[in-house]
Amino acid sequence: MAYSYEAPVSQSLFDRASVVTPGGVNSPVRAFRAVGGTPRFMVSGTGPYLTDADGREYVDLVCSWGPMILGHSHPEVIAAVQEAVSRGTSFGTPGEGEVALAEEIVARIDPVEQVRLVSSGTEATMSAIRLARGFTGRAKVVKFAGCYHGHVDALLAAAGSGVATFGLPDTPGVTGATAGDTVVLPYNDLDAVRAAFAAHPGEIACVITEASPGNMGVVPPADGFNAGLKELCAANGALYISDEVMTGFRTSKAGWYGVDGVRPDLMTFGKVMGGGFPAAAFGGRGDVMAHLAPAGPVYQAGTLSGNPVATAAGLAQLRLLDDAAYAKIDAVSAELRSLVGDALTKEGVAHTVSAASNMFSVFFTDEPVRDYDDAKKQDVFRFTAFFHAMLEQGVYLPPSAFESWFVSTAHDGRAVERIAAALPGAARAAAEATA
Ligand code: PLP
Repeated sequence: MAYSYEAPVSQSLFDRASVVTPGGVNSPVRAFRAVGGTPRFMVSGTGPYLTDADGREYVDLVCSWGPMILGHSHPEVIAAVQEAVSRGTSFGTPGEGEVALAEEIVARIDPVEQVRLVSSGTEATMSAIRLARGFTGRAKVVKFAGCYHGHVDALLAAAGSGVATFGLPDTPGVTGATAGDTVVLPYNDLDAVRAAFAAHPGEIACVITEASPGNMGVVPPADGFNAGLKELCAANGALYISDEVMTGFRTSKAGWYGVDGVRPDLMTFGKVMGGGFPAAAFGGRGDVMAHLAPAGPVYQAGTLSGNPVATAAGLAQLRLLDDAAYAKIDAVSAELRSLVGDALTKEGVAHTVSAASNMFSVFFTDEPVRDYDDAKKQDVFRFTAFFHAMLEQGVYLPPSAFESWFVSTAHDGRAVERIAAALPGAARAAAEATA
């Protein structure tokens, strides 16, 4: 497909990058391969806007894939970072900032009695699984197709997100031995979970699930699904791990736990809690966390874990996320969902706007989407046309039909108007698109 607009500076940066970096990017979805065209190299962000290397401004509906919940360059977050940086960037010792961030997490999320800070969501899920295996003395892990938990070897089977975007069933480099203890089940299917426990008695260490999946597009848990998982885990001596890397501190003050109230044994966090810096965490039941080194025998560590600049950014961001902030994000999300739905309806485009609290995405199908197989049945080519029409008009969407859209407290009336103005043309482009 040829695009009528160009980004020459981004293109020349991408050309340079492609010489020294595989595919020109440091995380695959950034390369625009699913939608084609030139990935935008961003140079700055303010509030709900990003500016690229060609000097074009976009309303940002990616928000760094979730973290920038207060918008870009929030003055109080920047001030906290500057203050922290002025005292040094890494000490390799404990520091007060990490205690304060851990206290904030424990105070917000009741099932988290203790928490360990790490540097990425991948590390958080990898470590939570190791801990679950160490605690239970069992090997097998149940995950759901379309749920992405980072690029942990054992969890890359039938993962969503970038893996969904590229249609990879799994990835070379993950050996049968590593993935052999992973049982992949269809999402929202409690009978399949029951059957897995029956087929592997005493062998399943944990069930890990996205608290509300956002990596196959947004596919919320059916009523009772998370509660059913919790019950089945408890009945079978396995741990229930809720991955809240995406939903944590976003879908409510207490993340998805704040929405459905189902108490996990372990939880993982990332994105929002780092304020745009590499900070993530896993935590949960005190008796389970007590198995972690140096308190217990399960080893886990990190040179930059609890980094003082990252913890200062995360803490500043969390402290600004009060009830009013969530009310604002929820309202903007609802407004955008209705604008997008109306625009697509007007052009007769089959679609479903799927939401979980303030996270949402659009499936280009009017069939119900309950799992990854359903999500894959959408007309992805219509998303591609929609995406480029939005980009051309200055709205930056996730460059894949299998990702959540994110808004922030900074998405004000002006930003929403710009999105509203772009939607009719994008809906038309979606309607006219051909496979
Ligand atoms: N878990 C979930 C639910 C995610 O959405 C992601 C990333 O998108 C991860 C884990 C991995 O986090 P990271 O990219 O920080 O390693």
